[in-house]
Amino acid sequence: MFDKINRQQFLKTTVGAAIATVVAGNLPISAAERTSSAAMGAEKIFRGGPILTMTDGLRQVEAVAIANGRILAAGTEAEVMQTRTNTTVIVELDGKTLMPSFIDAHGHFMNSPQVVKWANVSGPPVGPVSAIADIITVLNAHVEKFQLKPGEWIIGYGYDITNLSDGRECNRDDLDPHFPDNPVMLIHVSNHGAVMNSKAFAEVGIDASTPTPPGGIILRKPGSQEPDGLIMETAFLPVFGNMPQPSEQELLDTLDAAQQIYASAGVTTCQEGATHAKDLKFLQKGAEQGRFYLDVVSLPFVVEVPALVAEYFPDFSSGAGQIPDTAKEAFGVYKNRLKLAGIKISLDGSPQGKTAFWSQPLLTDGPGGEKNWRGQPLFPPEVVNKFVKEIYDKGIPIFCHCNGDAAIDMMIDAAEAAGVTADQDRRTVIIHSQFQRPDQLDRYVELGFSPSYFTTHTFFWGKTHVENTGKERAYFISPMASAMGKGLRCSNHSDFSVTPMDPMRMAWSTVTRQSREGEIIGPDERVDVWLALKALTIEAAWQIREEDSKGTIEVGKLADLVILDGNPLTVATDQILNIKVIETMKEGVKVYPKAA
Ligand SMILES: [Zn+2]
Repeated sequence: MFDKINRQQFLKTTVGAAIATVVAGNLPISAAERTSSAAMGAEKIFRGGPILTMTDGLRQVEAVAIANGRILAAGTEAEVMQTRTNTTVIVELDGKTLMPSFIDAHGHFMNSPQVVKWANVSGPPVGPVSAIADIITVLNAHVEKFQLKPGEWIIGYGYDITNLSDGRECNRDDLDPHFPDNPVMLIHVSNHGAVMNSKAFAEVGIDASTPTPPGGIILRKPGSQEPDGLIMETAFLPVFGNMPQPSEQELLDTLDAAQQIYASAGVTTCQEGATHAKDLKFLQKGAEQGRFYLDVVSLPFVVEVPALVAEYFPDFSSGAGQIPDTAKEAFGVYKNRLKLAGIKISLDGSPQGKTAFWSQPLLTDGPGGEKNWRGQPLFPPEVVNKFVKEIYDKGIPIFCHCNGDAAIDMMIDAAEAAGVTADQDRRTVIIHSQFQRPDQLDRYVELGFSPSYFTTHTFFWGKTHVENTGKERAYFISPMASAMGKGLRCSNHSDFSVTPMDPMRMAWSTVTRQSREGEIIGPDERVDVWLALKALTIEAAWQIREEDSKGTIEVGKLADLVILDGNPLTVATDQILNIKVIETMKEGVKVYPKAA
């Protein structure tokens, strides 16, 4: 019964009202109310460590009680202990920190199977590779872990020469002696190339007689036409496209490990932030089979939405190649832990790939050597205006990917043309909002836009952005302090698997904005740790309209909780990165670490 009611309904019950009174702490509770709350009884009470509620009113409490997957009480230890029964388990935090678990404000859940099944050949801090020898070590461990047999593909991700102390590309001669019987493919960090061994070249049919296609790269051995190892762009893309695909069953079997990527980072609500039709079908199958123990929020990708609604939600389908009027009803509700939260639109590419759409040219040439390059939009404005109006008219939330300020202008114009205003409470989320201009913040306020920033860019690509755009623009990337100063609600994300699923790294980046090289990328846009944590919890919950059930420790909300080995509010700023997740709970059930 309890899991079927929401927080408001809960608070209307006698017990809820009694507990709310306990939490408020300033009103005496009656004997009758005390009896009701005792009748409910806590399953677990946490005490003995900092407990961050993430509510601005009462930031910390001494103890929290949970029952039936929800928060039963939060307040002083004396207040919360009133919910104790003779079966209540008392959890002593021993100085560890309890707080609401994290919400993935934007990422790509469907990338997790590959992260699970592939070897991580990235450089620090994402992976362990600093030299070619490390790649061999990682691949050997991978073969062992997955018990790969001769002939099976060994695939690594995150390969990047800039991580290698050898100062040269890894080549087939490095790989062949160790892996003579397995094809090996080390996918480049850009996903636009790979290093392969001899067995892999034989499998895909590339040899000395293969010409290099236009727009492609096939590195050759010195003084010969023999492929050396690295292939890029048009030489790689068809090869990758023809790789054997895992079966649906194999993919379904990765869902546990995929969820553990999130749970081990203290995240209990995951996002699949650009869901294609086949992926939605797969996620629905996983949900129907009861494989999800975390919540998964899906954002169907706009160009596929009419077909997707027709196929998977025939009840809502007009069959006319348009989003049907009733499609809205498919959104906003969890079914077996899978929810469609809104429609995803993408208006440009990535700033580090120079495919974002800016109003002013870059200081460096475009990706193809173009002068005065300012990127380009993915769709012309008239198409964007049509999408946006249609989705708004159907009452479905929009999650729009915009990295460059010119792309943001397009979305602002489209929303304005559709008659959108802040008082409509549409919560249009502008994913990334990275190269936002100061004047666009006011437009966000007027239109009710909410940015989901990507502050780890200051670490991973801060130097690149300064080189490409100059300090003034680069220092305003993901301008969380300015946005919050205007009263905007902002979340923060990792765009997993673009950067790791690591909320503590995200919080650290938000607070320090420190690049790999130690430069502070925009000192004025740093915010304090409290605000950085809100962007990962309650603000992210608000953007997906789950602020009544998630994101804070308040009576009646879900007991989605994380225990950390350090308190982000009190450790030295440079130590936030090193805080580890001890335990993650979804609705009171431990989901990390998993029982063996
Ligand atoms: Zn993304």
